[in-house]
Amino acid sequence: MAQHIETTCVQGGYTPKNGEPRQIPIVQSTTFKYDTIQGMAQLFDLEASGYFYTRLQNPTNDAVAAKIAALEGGTAAMLTSSGQAATFYSVFNIASAGDHIIASAAIYGGSYNLFAVTMKKMGIDFTFISPNCTDEELNAAFRPNTKAVFGETIANPSLVIFDIERFANAAHAHGVPLIVDNTFATPVNCRPFEWGADIVVHSTTKYMDGHGACVGGAIVDSGRFDWMAHADRFPGLCTPDESYHGITYAEKFGLGGAYITKATAQLMRDFGSIPSPQNAFLLNLGLESLHVRMERHCANAMAVAEFLSDHPKVERVIYPGLKNHPSYNLAQKYLPHGSCGVISFEIRGGRKAAETFMSRLQTAAIETHVADARTCCLHPASTTHRQMNDAELYACGITPALIRYSCGIENVEDLIADLDQALAD
Ligand SMILES: *Cc1c(COP(=O)(O)O)cnc(C)c1O
Repeated sequence: MAQHIETTCVQGGYTPKNGEPRQIPIVQSTTFKYDTIQGMAQLFDLEASGYFYTRLQNPTNDAVAAKIAALEGGTAAMLTSSGQAATFYSVFNIASAGDHIIASAAIYGGSYNLFAVTMKKMGIDFTFISPNCTDEELNAAFRPNTKAVFGETIANPSLVIFDIERFANAAHAHGVPLIVDNTFATPVNCRPFEWGADIVVHSTTKYMDGHGACVGGAIVDSGRFDWMAHADRFPGLCTPDESYHGITYAEKFGLGGAYITKATAQLMRDFGSIPSPQNAFLLNLGLESLHVRMERHCANAMAVAEFLSDHPKVERVIYPGLKNHPSYNLAQKYLPHGSCGVISFEIRGGRKAAETFMSRLQTAAIETHVADARTCCLHPASTTHRQMNDAELYACGITPALIRYSCGIENVEDLIADLDQALAD
């Protein structure tokens, strides 16, 4: 029976049988017991499905991954120990030394560093392209060795909206998949597969967990990218894997299963960035209320953005729900029910004024975090970007007075009263 996303948030991924626990059990076990060696050998050959070692698969983690797959409308998903691990695996699963990836320049700083520095050392080349580039510029960025295009639905922290449909069409015209980081939107506000994306990644640390409790990540496959139709480009999926008894993933597991099975069987086997079953359980508690929280995060952020826009001490407010936001039209297309709870704004009076304002806040806490039930805020110039001088800050779109404010789910009148007193003379 087709379900609404709210029902999937609460009930997806796990259906207990008669007399079984109502809540997903935490299978806190590294290993699983078998009666015969033949039974276990079949699992090692991927001839049968089942559990043998938690680094490869665990029932708690699988149930939560299945819920996230259902939320995104995908065919398969895997959990990882962090969003960074999810981003790395999503690309490394289909690219290796000598390959090339096109990435939007408006992405999370951690993803940028992973791509531009660490994966570059592994021999993978990245071209960073403006999300507002022309079609000509976009098409010119593809090379014969390009393996994927990567973008972020709502960029953290610039809040630029990625034109998923346009980039998906370009990727497909060149025979490669589009990977989208959907962390800030969450599947409640945008499902990139509906606009042509092929793979979705998440930092579940943010809204999905939502309570600042667990660092985690997820990768979801739409099951729609036809690897075999581009077999020359994706030998890892379309030719036998000697490290797995000659299995050809795309043949054996088909469109819906090849990508995640390969990521599990090769990358998780070799890198081992799994979440603990305990963390997966806590993530699921967050997912159960994701739809309720996102509505409140967005409503609070809209009210705060409007309050700040009208305040004489505020120079400018960056929020995709405001008509003056450069991505307003894309936000209307991809995020008609709201974008996220994160706002950036700049107060008059430069760095000093920003510091005074921050120190006066009482309800909003100073944290290196976003997308939490509790309102938090950050002054990039004196924290995440403190190595940079003012000129370097401007070059990456951050001004000395810029503040990133992540609206929680408290009463919005309390948030506004807190901002009001912090902005007072
Ligand atoms: C935080 C974040 C990440 C990295 O996730 P971690 O869970 O911190 O490793 C990736 N993408 C986006 C958009 C993020 O906000």
